Amino acid sequence: MSTQHERKYWDAALETQPREKWEQQKLGLLQKHLRHAYDNSPYYRASFDAAGVHPDQVRSLDDIRRFPLIDKQVLRGRQQAVPPFGDLVAVPERDIVYISASSGSTGVPTASPFTGQDFSDWIDYEARQFWSSGLRPEDRYCHSLNFSLFIGGPCVLGAQKLGALSIHAGTVPSERLLTIIRQFQATAIWTTPSYAWYLGETAVKEGIDIRSELNIKRIFVAGEPGGSIPETRQRIEALWGAAIYDYYGLSDIFGSCAGMCEEKDGLHWAEDHILVEVIDQQTGEPVAEGERGEMVLTTLKKSARPLVRFRTGDIVSFTSEPCSCGRTSIRMLGVHGRLDDMLIIKGVNVFPSDIEAIARKDHDFTGEYKLIVERNNHLDQLTVEVERAPTYSGNDDELAARFIRQLQSVTGVSAKVSILAADTLPRATHKAKRVEDRRVGVWS
Ligand SMILES: [Zn+2]
Repeated sequence: MSTQHERKYWDAALETQPREKWEQQKLGLLQKHLRHAYDNSPYYRASFDAAGVHPDQVRSLDDIRRFPLIDKQVLRGRQQAVPPFGDLVAVPERDIVYISASSGSTGVPTASPFTGQDFSDWIDYEARQFWSSGLRPEDRYCHSLNFSLFIGGPCVLGAQKLGALSIHAGTVPSERLLTIIRQFQATAIWTTPSYAWYLGETAVKEGIDIRSELNIKRIFVAGEPGGSIPETRQRIEALWGAAIYDYYGLSDIFGSCAGMCEEKDGLHWAEDHILVEVIDQQTGEPVAEGERGEMVLTTLKKSARPLVRFRTGDIVSFTSEPCSCGRTSIRMLGVHGRLDDMLIIKGVNVFPSDIEAIARKDHDFTGEYKLIVERNNHLDQLTVEVERAPTYSGNDDELAARFIRQLQSVTGVSAKVSILAADTLPRATHKAKRVEDRRVGVWS
């Protein structure tokens, strides 16, 4: 008799359906969801009316482009105008069972509400995603994300639904986390890439032999681009002797909306939950498949607060090429950066993730880095601080020159490079702050 854990897919019929079926399914969901938003959310009714659009006009997925874009400022503004959750909400409050909140860079938290059905749909999706990354009921999964009003917290229930033994660790000091991982012989954890790195380094410093004393096989990461930068992933994998799976979440929708399958070739997208557009930030026109652009999302099922054409600020690219795992959903080829993080140096767009890839690829560097941008005599100057690896015995000038050459060839930007001793830069314990923009009045 076959048992559940021998299955390759969580939901084979859905996950391997032909592309045409995905498109059909999404169109049906979109029509219904836009109708729900229009009928039940005062904001959407007014906004669609003002734009002269109506859900009944949607006959193809492209028709979504006729609807107005929204962004985080709209969410924040409407929440302040109609507290506590704003008038994008499309259900009576008695139907809301859960909220998460996210502050973003400006500090005013916005709440993301869920109905009971939204919540259980979400957790089922998390289980599907964990399954695609190879997590099985035999696993012991240690969830090392914050639970407090944080959208990543409940994702642990997806692992539990799948049948894995789930350890709700949360964000505890790293020594304590290592104790938990060792004591219960956890086989999988979820954290940020910089924290996975930091935790591994802490284990080494504490004299823990990661491969013989710990049992971690899989590390799920999210919250920073690192998990999709091959050089970063490979170095964390080497440190832990474990496979890294990059996940992407958006606090205003789900804890995780996309994740790597065991092929680790892009992040499979939750296409039955969220419609993706990738647009040129300037013109608003869609970019060609595979090109980088800003990701705009429309929820397809989440009824408590539908999001219609939400600008994420994330710069991404996608492919619809079939994956060798057999799943047919579109794959995100990584988040290349956030618009907020993008630096414009002498007119050239530079993402910290491009620089990270260089620092992580060359093993004469520790992989830690910091970027400082200044403006001298109206000219932008980028300085990259990197640490020389303890094993490097050559001279610093040669090392700096090598970094400058690589940077020039990858980004087209020239920079000053400062070589520091290992362990000089502060280690990130959560989301890494690696950019210091000292320019004044850059955008004015
Ligand atoms: Zn795949």
